[in-house]
Amino acid sequence: MAFEMDKFRLDGKVAFVTGAVHGIGYEIASALAKAGAKIVFNGLKKDPVEQAQQSYRDAGFDARGYVCDVTDEEAVQEMVKQVKEEVGPIDIVVNNAGIIKRIPMIEMSAEDFRQVIDVDLTGPFIVSKAVIPDMIKNGGGKIINICSMMSELGRETVCAYAAAKGGLKMLTKNIASEYGEYNIQCNGIGPGYIATPQTAPLREKQEDGSRHPFDQFIIAKTPAARWGETEDLAGAAVFLSSKASNFVNGHILYVDGGILAYI
Ligand code: NDP
Repeated sequence: MAFEMDKFRLDGKVAFVTGAVHGIGYEIASALAKAGAKIVFNGLKKDPVEQAQQSYRDAGFDARGYVCDVTDEEAVQEMVKQVKEEVGPIDIVVNNAGIIKRIPMIEMSAEDFRQVIDVDLTGPFIVSKAVIPDMIKNGGGKIINICSMMSELGRETVCAYAAAKGGLKMLTKNIASEYGEYNIQCNGIGPGYIATPQTAPLREKQEDGSRHPFDQFIIAKTPAARWGETEDLAGAAVFLSSKASNFVNGHILYVDGGILAYI
């Protein structure tokens, strides 16, 4: 059977991207919308959600935003029910919402550690659990977990984040093996260092005007010799959301300018 480019199209699909009011989530949701999907997203606060909804709509996209914390299971179940009534059952989920706390491990409180695990690992579990039953009923679905290079590596000050993103890689594989028989594909995207609000402090100039040491490290260690842009992730997200990836399951696609191959 000949391959058709329309396998990349997402027309008529409902795609839910968590934490998509800005940054990587916003770019991914916009890319899925350009491929034809209706976009549903959430954020923590009403005003940013409303502003993001307006800017998606100004760009001509069919988008609806909800205020919902991904760590609150009852609220997520309620939101998924509301989306089903207002937009339709969810076909594609991108678990993008995430936080990072940069604190040396021996100075980190258990409360801070738990909070990172809660948002970055338990959140994707709660959201995936809420959507999988309808995906099974509807003959399949796509789940994309936004992982990290820290799914593979450890580094100073990010122990909770690395534990959560390493766990998210294994949650990805587990969902793939547990629900693959229902035509559900669960894969991850592992961004390299991407210029977003989350990484803005690492690009701030030093008092003497020199580049932040981490900024210098990224440029030196990334074969592409630059930070990634959010749009670098868009193609991977469309591919993993589309029929073109129907036999890809349980994998992490690293979009990192080659840094993982090098360090
Ligand atoms: P941002 O901080 O720009 O965006 C994260 C989004 O998640 C924000 O909209 C935030 O909302 C939302 N969010 C946080 N906690 C919750 C919650 N409990 N419930 C719902 N929404 C929540 O981050 P990025 O765009 O940089 O990162 C997106 C994803 O990509 C994250 O999972 C991150 O770990 C991952 N990543 C990023 C990399 C990078 O270099 N930037 C590299 C590797 C992975 P609010 O704005 O209201 O706080």
